[in-house]
Amino acid sequence: MTTRPTASASSFTSIDSLCCRAGAGFADGQPLVTPIVQSTTFCREGVDSRAEHQYSRVSNPTVSALEDVLGALEGAPPAVCFATGLAAETALLLALLKAGDHVVCGRAVYGGTTRLLQQVLGPLGIEATFVDSTSPAAVAGAVTSRTRVVFIETPANPTLEVTDVRAVAAIAHRAGARLVVDNTFLTPVLQQPLELGADLTVTSTTKFIDGHSVAPGGAVVTRDAALAERIRFVRKSTGAIQTPQHAWLTLQGLKTLPLRLRAQSASATTLAHWLAAQAAVARVHYPSLGDPELAEAQHLGAHGAVLSFELLGGLSAARQVAGALRLCRLVEHVGSVETLVTHPASMTHADLTVEARAAAGVRDGLLRLSVGLESIADIRADLESAFATVTAEVAR
Ligand SMILES: *Cc1c(COP(=O)(O)O)cnc(C)c1O
Repeated sequence: MTTRPTASASSFTSIDSLCCRAGAGFADGQPLVTPIVQSTTFCREGVDSRAEHQYSRVSNPTVSALEDVLGALEGAPPAVCFATGLAAETALLLALLKAGDHVVCGRAVYGGTTRLLQQVLGPLGIEATFVDSTSPAAVAGAVTSRTRVVFIETPANPTLEVTDVRAVAAIAHRAGARLVVDNTFLTPVLQQPLELGADLTVTSTTKFIDGHSVAPGGAVVTRDAALAERIRFVRKSTGAIQTPQHAWLTLQGLKTLPLRLRAQSASATTLAHWLAAQAAVARVHYPSLGDPELAEAQHLGAHGAVLSFELLGGLSAARQVAGALRLCRLVEHVGSVETLVTHPASMTHADLTVEARAAAGVRDGLLRLSVGLESIADIRADLESAFATVTAEVAR
């Protein structure tokens, strides 16, 4: 069992216990489950009141309960939670950067991250260079005297390449920059970026942490208390805090996160090996197939539930298979209990330029699979019959 380094508010430290008792009450007469505090504002005794909660754009008790546990999972002060993962990314970048600053970003990251940097922050005078973050030399080569942030996603989306967090952290720190790791695919259960030297993690809780496709959310965690305060200030000033309803649903999802993630990862590993042997498949991307040594060293016992594969038949085969799948559903999402399939070129990465897509390794025949909790036999049968429609098409 994995343990987090320090426990502040509670008497246990294991990831499993922290998750399953997330936000739970212990005292006499307390509700066992965190209540949803559905109130925009909070009463004050007088104008000098220092009450913990005053207005729900600034803080809310249900959101705070989620923040406490998400911080504790990484041995850090409370997380800062947002309405979505991209709201979290926006706030942390606004907290760290100003016009004239430079960002080095992995080229294989969530499409929305690339869009945010290129099309929203770029025009504000924040420049970004996209590099292959799996090569520390490429990261080092892109760093300039103006670099303030190095942003990576590992394993990356959708190619599942693994970046050496320790190596990239050393490069960032030598340049006086901070390393941000998007930990959405593995969560603190399977990867602890702060332990590996990262300064901040950002997680789209919309995915595995919620796990049931019901509550959008994002979280930023850092052990730098002053920086956390700055991010909280940006959140208050820009207004993208998570709602109490969504924080509550996320807390409910968190309780079973370790169980779900380990079971879904085991199925994904089995399916990755099976897919690699299929005639319709040109290539399979999964962390333990790409860089097994680094994946083993960096991940906590499993490699996540997301894999991707390229079909020999390219775009037409990908369209055909995506349309023929019945159990696996075609959606723009990962991390839920259902097996979900995405065609990145036309969905998550559709807004990128053709060149940016190519650089990110998003080929037209690539399908991404987020493996759910169904039986492997059922998922395999679904894929098998979808592949058969492609073969039939080619044979005709
Ligand atoms: C979905 C996702 C995001 C953005 O999160 P939202 O909650 O959709 O805003 C960021 N990074 C990764 C890796 C994601 O999968």
